Amino acid sequence: MTQKKLIAGWEQALREAGDPLASEQEFAHLAERLTMVTMAGLTPSADAQAAGRRLGRMLADAHLTAPKAIGEALMVLARYAPDVGDVHREQQLVRMQGGLATGHAAAVQQRLLTQQESIHQASSAARDEVARALSESEARWRRLVDQAPVGIAVGDIEGNVIEVNASLQNMFGLTVDEMRAMKIQEYIHPEDGAAVWQQYADTASGVLEEFKAEKRFVRKDGEGIWTNLSVSLIRDSDDNPAFMVAVVEDITDRRLLQERLQHEATHDPLTGLPNRVLFLQHLDRAVADPGPDERVAVLFIDLDGFKFVNDSRGHIVGDRVLIAVAERLSEAALPSGAFVARLAGDEFVALLTGCSRDVAPMQVAEDLLAALKQPLKVTGQLPVQVGASVGVVELAAAGANSAEIMQAADLALHAAKEAGKGRVVEHDPQRKAGQLTRFQVAMQLPGLVERGELALVYQPLIRLSDGDLHSVEALLRWKHPTMGSLSPDMFIRIAEENAAILPIGRWVMDRACADLAVSDWPAVNINVSVRQLYSPQLLDDVRRTLDQAQLEPSRLRVEITESVVMNLDDPEPVAVLDSLIDMGVRLVMDDFGTGYSNLAALRRLPWHELKLAGTFLQSTKSGRPWSPIDQQILRTLVDLAHSLDLLVTAEGVETAEQDAQIREIGCDVAQGWFYATPEPLHPSSEVTAPRTTRPAPNQGDPSPVKDPTTSPTPVIGKPSQPRRPADTAPMNTIQVRR
Ligand code: C2E
Ligand code: MG
Ligand code: MG
Repeated sequence: MTQKKLIAGWEQALREAGDPLASEQEFAHLAERLTMVTMAGLTPSADAQAAGRRLGRMLADAHLTAPKAIGEALMVLARYAPDVGDVHREQQLVRMQGGLATGHAAAVQQRLLTQQESIHQASSAARDEVARALSESEARWRRLVDQAPVGIAVGDIEGNVIEVNASLQNMFGLTVDEMRAMKIQEYIHPEDGAAVWQQYADTASGVLEEFKAEKRFVRKDGEGIWTNLSVSLIRDSDDNPAFMVAVVEDITDRRLLQERLQHEATHDPLTGLPNRVLFLQHLDRAVADPGPDERVAVLFIDLDGFKFVNDSRGHIVGDRVLIAVAERLSEAALPSGAFVARLAGDEFVALLTGCSRDVAPMQVAEDLLAALKQPLKVTGQLPVQVGASVGVVELAAAGANSAEIMQAADLALHAAKEAGKGRVVEHDPQRKAGQLTRFQVAMQLPGLVERGELALVYQPLIRLSDGDLHSVEALLRWKHPTMGSLSPDMFIRIAEENAAILPIGRWVMDRACADLAVSDWPAVNINVSVRQLYSPQLLDDVRRTLDQAQLEPSRLRVEITESVVMNLDDPEPVAVLDSLIDMGVRLVMDDFGTGYSNLAALRRLPWHELKLAGTFLQSTKSGRPWSPIDQQILRTLVDLAHSLDLLVTAEGVETAEQDAQIREIGCDVAQGWFYATPEPLHPSSEVTAPRTTRPAPNQGDPSPVKDPTTSPTPVIGKPSQPRRPADTAPMNTIQVRR
């Protein structure tokens, strides 16, 4: 009974002051154990104090640690301990209570100590863990920064450099210490835009969080570098700007490549001068936003006779001459500040804009011409003399249009050439603008074949011994939609300069061979440009064309101008000519007498025929008789050609006198208006539009305007008798013997 009360008493006390999370069952179990210890401790022989200490410990272990718990426990003992009337027992109880108090206090203290210890251990372990994690992350970060291929720097907002990585040191060629010794402001490059440093200041003051810029720096060795710079702000815990981190990427190579590509796109690779693109950009800019009263002038310069230099002395010398000309022009343009560019081939151009307002364009043009007067020194060669013609246009920049300026300059240049070359001509707006400028020709050349604007006319070559047809020469015409029939002089040279000659040449060959196949001509002569001899396709084209037209190769005769032939040191065209001969094609040297008239050069290739240039007959025009010396020279020339087994044709025979003379000196074949003018194969393909081009001074069709209703249908064939008109008027037709 007593024991039950005691159990109930302990249970009550546990509920009052025990662990709120413990269950009733746990309380009951503990209350039983407490009761057993209490009972045992109160027996007379027991160590009541020790039992009390044990009770105190048990209570503390059961989380009854609050001061209230001790009171409750002492109360349980006082109230429910049995037989308290017994003195002995009472003493035991007092001892037990004392033991409980000390045991409890000691247990609680112990418990506290243990708790403190474990907290301490846990916190120091946590500290160690954080420190380890921090140092690991720091090491990782360091490695990252040190090995980063980009430069990284940390600085404070006052501009002191605190940290720099290895890449940045390498990039600048400076050590960490050297970099730390410099303030950020010392990294200014003279060509920095103001914006970069303004953005830097804004980031340092916290207005911006970051900025990016392309910026130049100077290495320690003085070399410049280009970088992609990106600067970010780091704020402290109070959100105030504290540090700046700069990431610097070296883009020098990329930048140089970009600059090189840019330069290549806007400069002529041969002379290094600005090219057409850059020139037009400058011109566009000059007229786009001119100052008041600002004037602009364009000087269009074209070399006289450069084609001859190129053809006779080879492309390599030609190129060197162009380089030398470019240098001369650039130098001569310096005082006026003119912007000199190379447009194409032997065409140069100079631009005078606002800055050079004080100089007179005509005077500048004269200075440029004068600069070319001295022979040009070309390495490993005799000095070369080239002349030039200049067309000048000057006008108010406001309201001007680049294309119109260029066209006006081109027209003026055209006029300079017409007026006899080697001179400066200023554009005259009143001058009839009906001419086709070279600029326009160059624009219209591409697609000429596809547009079907080409035509061939044929001129007979008459055998002088019997008046039979020896061959016909195919001569090209451009059936221009608005300008009528244009002679090759107007466009062949330009076509040769920009490679348009290749499709044109192919067309000529195809057309001429196809026409030959349906005619009764013995053979056809076609003119081939040097440029074609440099094209590896030429031989294939000839083979294919002959196959298609099923022609005997010897019926195709290729005319090459003498000046070209002089350049036989160049193996490429020689090999092509050799292969043509191997194929059976006959080779004709054209315009002999316009180059060096060097018969020795004839031996290098097995030529079949030689055509004496019409210029040889010049002295007999206007009725003046040939001097006996001229005649003797020509006769010797013809004899020499014969000794080399060459057939000699006289070109440009216009009169009966000339016909007699060429017979006299022994020519075999003749060609010229005296026998027949160049005519189309089919009269229907005749060009009827008015021709506005002038014939070349010594050559060319005499009657540009052809009216099919009034002129008899021209037919080419063998004349029954060569007509010998009393006057020197050209013959337009020859009679056919069928
Ligand atoms: P070329 O090969 O020496 O051709 C002869 C030139 O003299 C032709 O001028 C012809 O019309 C002209 N002519 C004919 N008889 C007389 C005459 O009695 N007196 C005068 N003063 N001239 C006469 P064209 O047709 O204007 O050709 C000029 C040059 O253009 C040709 O000179 C030739 O070098 C070149 N050419 C013509 N057709 C072609 C072609 O298909 N391809 C190439 N690459 N060049 C061509
Ligand atoms: Mg010819
Ligand atoms: Mg000729």
